[in-house]
Order: sequence, then C-alpha cells, then structure tokens
Amino acid sequence: MTDNRPSINLNNHTEVESTLAALADAKTIAAEKGDESQANQLWRDIQALKIVSTYVTAINNIKQQKYRDAWCELEQCEITCNFLSENSSKEFYKNSGADFVEKYVRKWQSLYPYCVFASPAMVVGYYTCSICNHKIRPRSRCQHIKGRIYNGELCTHQAHDLEIREISIVTNPVQKYSVVHNDETLDFSLLEYLCSHICSPFDEWEAHWTTKMFPKDRFHSVSEDYKCPCQSGNNFGQCCSDKVEIEIPHIDFVFKNGLNENAEVERFPY
Ligand SMILES: [Zn+2]
Ligand SMILES: [Zn+2]
Repeated sequence: MTDNRPSINLNNHTEVESTLAALADAKTIAAEKGDESQANQLWRDIQALKIVSTYVTAINNIKQQKYRDAWCELEQCEITCNFLSENSSKEFYKNSGADFVEKYVRKWQSLYPYCVFASPAMVVGYYTCSICNHKIRPRSRCQHIKGRIYNGELCTHQAHDLEIREISIVTNPVQKYSVVHNDETLDFSLLEYLCSHICSPFDEWEAHWTTKMFPKDRFHSVSEDYKCPCQSGNNFGQCCSDKVEIEIPHIDFVFKNGLNENAEVERFPY
C-alpha cells in the first residue's frame, strides 16, 4: 500500500469491510471511465487488504482454538497471494505485506497435524471466460489469459455442467479445504504453544524441525505395549525400550523479538 493511504486497524472488521467497499466503488468508477491502469491498481489494493486482513483473522482464530476456520482462511490467503503475485510488481507484493503473509501461511500450515484430504475428481462439461463470457473450446479461445487482470477484473475460467466422478483421499491436494480428520482427535499443541508466545500476527518466528535425545528413564511411565515415544508408530517394547537414549522429533521455535516469558520453556511430550 502506498504511503498516502490511511492505515487500517486490521482487527476492526467493520473498518476493513468499509475500506474494501470504498475501494470496490472506486474500481467500478475507474473501470467505467476506461482507466484500466487505475482499475487494475485498485484491484491490487483490494487483494492486498484481503490478504493481510484474512491472515489476521486466521491467527486470531488459531488463538481462539478455531483451528479448522483458521486453516480455511490460511488457504484463502494462499490462493489470493497467487493471483496477486501474478499481477503485481515484486515491490508492490512486498510493500503490501502479501510477501510476508505468503511466507508465514506456509509456516503455519506446516504446524498443523492435518495430513489427509478429500480430492474430488470432476468432469467438466465446458468452460467460459469470466471477462467476455466466451465458451472455450480447444480451437476457439478468446484473447484473455486465465489468472490475468483486465480493467480491474480477474480472468477465471468458469466450469459448467460439473459432474463429480469420484472422491479420492490424498496427502498433497491441489486445494486443502476438505480435511478428512476429526479435529477432536488431533494434537494442535504446536499451534497453541506458538500462539501463546507471539504478540502480533506479524511477529517473526522460525520453526526448526530436529530431533533430540532423551535418556530412557524419562519414559519409565510408558508401558511396553504403548506407542513408542520416538513416534515410529511401533509399540515401545518392539522399538526403543532397550535403548539408553531415545531420539524424539523436536521443534525449536526462534522468536525474532525474543520470548515474552521465560526463555527456558521447554515442552516435553510426557
Ligand atoms: Zn475472454
Ligand atoms: Zn522408537
């Protein structure tokens, strides 16, 4: 966002919504006047504001343990970031905060325990161009390119006569909305831990995935037929129970602004 624009309190939903509405009105006027470059710039401003405000909402939802809502909002940020990065300068992308959000959306997603998703296989009858409504066929295309902006509008190909043929369960889906998990059975402690240590959604942090050795007597309460603490999925008795030390997956969080509590806090799974 440029410097002459008033700053917006991203936690104030009404303020964000009214700013988005004002930008949309200005975009309509610019488009009607045929001022394509102004209309396109307003489109970029709208997307950038949607990205940062949706990101703030997502992090607030994580704080309130609404993990599934936040997951969908992070996904929304990711999609909007893709469209914006295709249609803006690197400088705008960075200065608007979209660059930060893109990077941190990936980091937050990596801390989720979700790993399987439903992916529908669809058969599409035909597509039309969202800009000119042209029915797209192999030998008949319009001049608009999917994912580009024209006079303040994003060109998408709209699918018609959709038919879902099958739903498959996948681990690396194109879109991540359809999580196949019951959240109540999952462990969100990484998200909870991280949230309790950051003050603002724009605090910078790093997560380093490593392993750490722990002496076996730390696990004396784990019975032989219980899952091994090394998280191999095998029973303790058939896995690490004879070892002197047990290697456990571990994450070190590094906070750029330091911890707001005791820096020695270490979380242990048992
Ligand atoms: Zn077209
Ligand atoms: Zn083990």
